[in-house]
Amino acid sequence: MRVGFGYDIHKLVAGRKLMLGGVEIPSPVGEKAHSDGDVLLHAVVDALLGAASLGDIGKHFPPGDPAYKGISSRVLLSQTGTLIKKHGYTISNIDSTIILERPKLLPHINSMKENIASDLGMDPGEVSIKGKTKEQCDAAGAGEAVEAYAVVLLTQSTEHHG
Ligand code: MG
Repeated sequence: MRVGFGYDIHKLVAGRKLMLGGVEIPSPVGEKAHSDGDVLLHAVVDALLGAASLGDIGKHFPPGDPAYKGISSRVLLSQTGTLIKKHGYTISNIDSTIILERPKLLPHINSMKENIASDLGMDPGEVSIKGKTKEQCDAAGAGEAVEAYAVVLLTQSTEHHG
């Protein structure tokens, strides 16, 4: 078994969509980013790559690469899932936390879980997503940024050799 950890933060600016777990959340501000800026999916991708010791999201999907401009992070997530499986791993479960001051995330959590589970070929029950605020402390607390943390557990099939 291998554990992986991922973290991401994006600045929130006017004129951008707020994408979290592949769901567009109604909000006057969204993530400033080269891709769609989905912090949750970026944290999950980094956790998956970290668990398999395969580098990080910037290595696999360089932020300056025109191929990834405005791309849905769900594409990055599915590609990462395929890579992880190619290395002989099964994703056991994911736990994550989104830190956002507003709006409330609860109405959207189930859709996010379904998106992640579908992109990675998992059961929605194996994907946990929690929402927190930063109690008005620092940039996320001031509503100027959104953050996400994720941990994953991989199991390696015994017949895999290298
Ligand atoms: Mg990111």
